[in-house]
Amino acid sequence: MWDEGAGRRSHEDLVAAQRHFLVPGVGLYYEDPLVLVSGSGTHVTDDRGTRYLDFFGGILTVSIGHAHPAVTEAVVDQAKTLVHTSTEYITAPMVNLAERLAAITPGELSQSFFTTSGTEANETAVAMAQRATGATEIIALRHSYSGRSQLGMGLTGQAPWRQGLGALPIRHALNPYCYRCPFNRTPDSCALECAKDLEALIETSTTGRPAAFLAEPLQGVGGFITPPQPYFEEAVNIVRRHGALFIDDEVQTGFGRTGYAFGIDYYGVVPDIMTFAKGLGNGLPVGATITTPEIGRHYTGPTISTFGGNPLSMRAALATLDVIEAEHVIDNVKARGAELRAGLEEVSDRYPAIGDVRGRGLMQGLEMVRENKEPAPDLAGELMEGARERGLLVGRGGLRGNTIRLAPPMTVPKAEVEEAVRVIEDTVAAIYRRHPELARVEPTRVSVP
Ligand code: PMP
Repeated sequence: MWDEGAGRRSHEDLVAAQRHFLVPGVGLYYEDPLVLVSGSGTHVTDDRGTRYLDFFGGILTVSIGHAHPAVTEAVVDQAKTLVHTSTEYITAPMVNLAERLAAITPGELSQSFFTTSGTEANETAVAMAQRATGATEIIALRHSYSGRSQLGMGLTGQAPWRQGLGALPIRHALNPYCYRCPFNRTPDSCALECAKDLEALIETSTTGRPAAFLAEPLQGVGGFITPPQPYFEEAVNIVRRHGALFIDDEVQTGFGRTGYAFGIDYYGVVPDIMTFAKGLGNGLPVGATITTPEIGRHYTGPTISTFGGNPLSMRAALATLDVIEAEHVIDNVKARGAELRAGLEEVSDRYPAIGDVRGRGLMQGLEMVRENKEPAPDLAGELMEGARERGLLVGRGGLRGNTIRLAPPMTVPKAEVEEAVRVIEDTVAAIYRRHPELARVEPTRVSVP
């Protein structure tokens, strides 16, 4: 279709056809939507031949760069050999990946089930927890995102992503959102009330015996909301006292993204169940749920995922993990993440309409505000458009759409981090020139331990 010649469709034609033939729920970034044609490393190219530095990586999915040769070769080799069998038969790539996940995940986690998305990985995790505990209720966090199925939407703590939802046995706890602390504390006076409130939530709003607490170590779609260090230890102790399991959703944070092997490692907590998707396959569809033999033994099924564990995705995931390990990618995440963070904080010092800079590793968010921390989705929109004009793609998030999300491939070099910071600075400077009232915005950034 993309060959030059008769088959090629114009930009306008494709945009019009997208609007006509896909449901309007398939939202698009940018006033003039991007039509992407190719990608290589940290760059993508659109249908007009414009190259962009990609600081969103297909929503934190292109973990080691677009069209990474090691992944492409593994997939092509597998496609020539065996594309599909279903889980009724053994294939080496699936068993090899399960074994690999058992080796790199913490504690006793060692039994996996493969699917094709994060939604399904979380569905599987909840079913596992319910079978193992005999309980049904799930605790999730406000501002979370868990997927697009009924259960996924039910777990998600943001109204815009819950459209068409029925009732489910889920309760949402206050989230550790330090920039907008639900208890009006500052990090200095933090008494972990949000974690302690889990106890009250369980005692007042559940049967007292929930099956699981499901949380992201760093809330992705919610706007890279970063819990303080002691949060998870306290929260997980509380839920475990009530018999619940801890499901750690690593769909965005897994495999080095935060500068740790897994996002939860920073908190020193070992989950009972972990879920993965996105970056694990560097763009090939894969979801995975891993648990301990003690919990897994209750998951007797029968259960099946036709495409789960398909050899193409398994080979892509194995190749991705090989590269992360062989090229010490996590060291790069730590170093480049620290540079990105320092650069963004400097820009926020000069332009406090970047109210907060938060995240870990190569997962850094900018919450755009006006005076008194009023959420400013319009400024986030201008930042997206302005960055694109300057050749940089970034993502957007947050309940109110006022957080910019920066998450380049984890292999990004230093010079490109510097370039991204420069583009952000130039774009925000231009926004300040267009909105003189922003000169009145005071600094509000918080520093989360
Ligand atoms: N969990 C988290 C933390 C996510 O960010 C997402 C996707 N944004 C999901 C689950 C759902 O993953 P998928 O879109 O692959 O179903």
